[in-house]
Amino acid sequence: MMKRGITYRSTRGGARGVSFREALLTGLAPDGGLFVPESIPVIPPEIPREAADFPALAAEVLTRWLAAEVPPDRLSALSRDAFSFPVPLVPLLGKGWEGVSVLELFHGPTLSFKDFGARAMARLMGHFLEASDERLTILVATSGDTGSAVADGFAGMDNIRVVLLYPKGQVSPTQERQLIVRRPGVRSFAVAGTFDDCQRMVKAAFVDPETAALGLSSANSINIGRLLPQMLYYFRAGRQRGEEVVFSVPSGNLGNLTGGLLAALSGLPVRRFLAAHNANDFFPNVLAGRAETPKASRRTLSNAMDVGAPSNFERITALLGPEEMQARIWGTSVADRATVASMRRVYEETGYLADPHTAVGLEAVRRYRAETGDATPAVVLATAHPAKFPETVERVLGFSPETPERLAALMHRPTNAAALAPTPAALKERLLAHV
Ligand SMILES: *Cc1c(COP(=O)(O)O)cnc(C)c1O
Repeated sequence: MMKRGITYRSTRGGARGVSFREALLTGLAPDGGLFVPESIPVIPPEIPREAADFPALAAEVLTRWLAAEVPPDRLSALSRDAFSFPVPLVPLLGKGWEGVSVLELFHGPTLSFKDFGARAMARLMGHFLEASDERLTILVATSGDTGSAVADGFAGMDNIRVVLLYPKGQVSPTQERQLIVRRPGVRSFAVAGTFDDCQRMVKAAFVDPETAALGLSSANSINIGRLLPQMLYYFRAGRQRGEEVVFSVPSGNLGNLTGGLLAALSGLPVRRFLAAHNANDFFPNVLAGRAETPKASRRTLSNAMDVGAPSNFERITALLGPEEMQARIWGTSVADRATVASMRRVYEETGYLADPHTAVGLEAVRRYRAETGDATPAVVLATAHPAKFPETVERVLGFSPETPERLAALMHRPTNAAALAPTPAALKERLLAHV
């Protein structure tokens, strides 16, 4: 008999005892809820302490979660392949920044932390589909970083194709280039509409029986397959510090923060999480005890965090009661003006060049320390490389960030994107024609 592993339930009570495989391949629970673990393994402190490198640490932690469904040697190989880039922890040097480090999560192929989730998820899905003739179409509406991480992470997989929808003219030139560069098994559509149109089209395809029969799946941050990998780098930072830390997490949909909570619930010593949001202040308001309702998103300089109603909030409330949520998480909302000031201040005081998302996280640490007087060592998750936002860096700091080779190389590669009308019918036609 198979060893009983960690199983998953829906946040809305409509599903229990679900395997990781099923939760991963279906994405959303049948009752519309999100999958959360029914039990949480203990990760002993010596695991992060003794691991030789990040992939070894990742494999050890994932084994505690997945060993009943994926053999440990497989998890080892998968981690080495997925996390084939450095994850440096950089201490800031400058007055006022004592004990603050930046955990750089942007050294993957598409220069954002989304590479961790997307690359691991692609390989886990590939593992489960390997011996079957099941085929999947990953359908993603994207306004930026998710789309390119998913396209890159899944490109060239045997049983999986990717269909990407993005709003034409509403992503930055760098982001667009990352989305449309030609990749095997990936098709991109420039939709003549908004991000909301793209999302509406994707949702319609999931509920239409004809297109659903194609084996549709999603790869956004509601999928548990992205959440587990987003837990791993917290252990890496905790291990280096070897003591309780404060984690500042630039947040939008709260997937990254939920990954951190899973790490803390499995034993990583965390003093406090800082939910660092931009002007989209739903969660900071909730944490401050203000009544909140989901609202439309507002556009900001840190556009990957422009989420009015964070979907992982439902997961956080399922994992933590209201009091525990307040005790473990502190929140703040950093408007664009303060984000710009943060980029300047950090650069002037420490020489560190932060992208707008990371700058929100850095500002959260400053505010948290001023408000609470808690000088516990802090780790700020750097979620994107500044070169993804050259226009903002240039405007705020007066120089352009250096472009890493893997980004520069994209400019010379062939592209592959088609225009698409902003209607569910237009997408359906393409899907049924096998795009
Ligand atoms: C997606 C993203 C975020 C927000 O992460 P969530 O998991 O949605 O909270 C922050 N920064 C960058 C650069 C991102 O791409």
